[in-house]
Amino acid sequence: MQTSISKTNCLFDSIFEPTRNSSSTFLINDNKEISYIDFHIMINQLANVLIKKGMRVGDRVAVQAEKSNTQIALYAATIKAGGVYLPLNTGYTSSELDYFIKDSSAKIIIVDKDVENIIAKNLEANTVLLTLSSDETGSLTALAEEQETFFDTVERGPDDLAAILYTSGTTGKSKGAILSHQNLLSNTKVLKEYWKFTKEDVLLHMLPIYHTHGLFVASNLLAYVGGSMIFLPKFDIEQALKWMNKSTTMMGVPTFYTRLLSDSRFNHSLTKHMRLFISGSAPLLAETHKEFEDRTSKKILERYGMTETNMSTSNPYDNERIAGTVGLPLPGIQLRIADDKGNEVEQGQIGIIELKGENVFKGYWQMPGKTSESFREDGFFITGDMAKVDKNGYVTIVGRDKDLIISGGLNIYPKEVETIIDEIESIEESAVFASPHKDFGEAVVAAVVRKNEAIIETEIINYLSDKLAKFKQPKKIIFLDSLPRNAMGKVQKAELRKKYQKLFND
Ligand code: AMP
Repeated sequence: MQTSISKTNCLFDSIFEPTRNSSSTFLINDNKEISYIDFHIMINQLANVLIKKGMRVGDRVAVQAEKSNTQIALYAATIKAGGVYLPLNTGYTSSELDYFIKDSSAKIIIVDKDVENIIAKNLEANTVLLTLSSDETGSLTALAEEQETFFDTVERGPDDLAAILYTSGTTGKSKGAILSHQNLLSNTKVLKEYWKFTKEDVLLHMLPIYHTHGLFVASNLLAYVGGSMIFLPKFDIEQALKWMNKSTTMMGVPTFYTRLLSDSRFNHSLTKHMRLFISGSAPLLAETHKEFEDRTSKKILERYGMTETNMSTSNPYDNERIAGTVGLPLPGIQLRIADDKGNEVEQGQIGIIELKGENVFKGYWQMPGKTSESFREDGFFITGDMAKVDKNGYVTIVGRDKDLIISGGLNIYPKEVETIIDEIESIEESAVFASPHKDFGEAVVAAVVRKNEAIIETEIINYLSDKLAKFKQPKKIIFLDSLPRNAMGKVQKAELRKKYQKLFND
């Protein structure tokens, strides 16, 4: 029997609680379906495990496990029990895991059975270690099955912490972005209206759930509207094609879309019932956007966000979606393009995106110095993304500030060079970065993936010669089979910079 809910918990009560008695389906896997009622039983049993294992209000629950139904219920259970959820990329090694566990002083750690013994060696005496494997077995689920199926929600307010997500930081130590109940809830409410999600929606979910995209953007939103998620372990072309006709919407990183387009079975008739395709986490090439429209008659809706800010801009649902742009600031979110002192630049000029709103995180976990460096005095967060805004307010991202190349004292935005290289018929894609150069300080280098092996360096340079100023043209072209990318589809420019740092100065 369910006890009455007497206390308020900002995120849980708004997102999950309303569906407690709903017999609708929440999660769909290849061989099973879980209703909201069953999902709430999982949440309550998991919350009971956390409390029995000593978790108190505000304690961190760190999880590194393959995507599973239990894991998404564990996220909701942690919030319901007043804890702080800390999901970790499944690609992290055990020594990286040690850093996150120590840095966050997590009370409860949940890992795959395979790494249990390695992790156990370095744990503090009062830390609890449980296991959860991809087939949903492990000590966590075994304990959960023995628990009561009711749980009294623990009170939490809007400014209390709900989650810590470590950023994929390419330099220095990874920073834990701390997100409050209000940060997450406000964004979910905005996205519901902006993208018109309802309980009729079935989301094709193939994203990881250790990242803001798959966890908050996708899962919070579908739970909030009472919709369903076809919850697949990862992107797989056969699975994507198989489940498309049961879905109404899909959220993906750009590589999902390029992989779908590379399969001729992905066509107009397979997608004609789909209401919405959303892309984010990395730049979607304008060319991919157009090819997708040619193939399906649908325009991908591209949006922009980051771990620290949740979602900040989006192309519109009803109005024009412009390829190569990330759309307009979402309602309630202030965006300005600023110089390195925080002064707004003139409309159309390139600068750094700064953001303010309920979506913006509280700071970096136990890094007061980094936190204050990242905010202006008037409360705007300095994202590090360089962009410009057109006269209608559409934002175009031109790269990260640390990717900016300064050659002979002149600024070069890699995106500008990449866009022109990518126009060449025989070129699949490119990544432009800097390599140290004794005369110029930095020299422009382009890593290029070819569609047609016959194209050579001089042909590319010739193509660029009347389209780009000489100082922007690559001093060297490197041909690769594929660009280095992480699981979210982001090109790893730091990796390219490191690998090719001695091209000119040997
Ligand atoms: P993460 O914190 O891992 O979500 O990474 C956030 C970063 O991804 C942003 O700061 C951007 O650099 C990049 N990003 C996210 N969405 C887009 C997009 N639609 N276009 C270009 N870059 C994006």
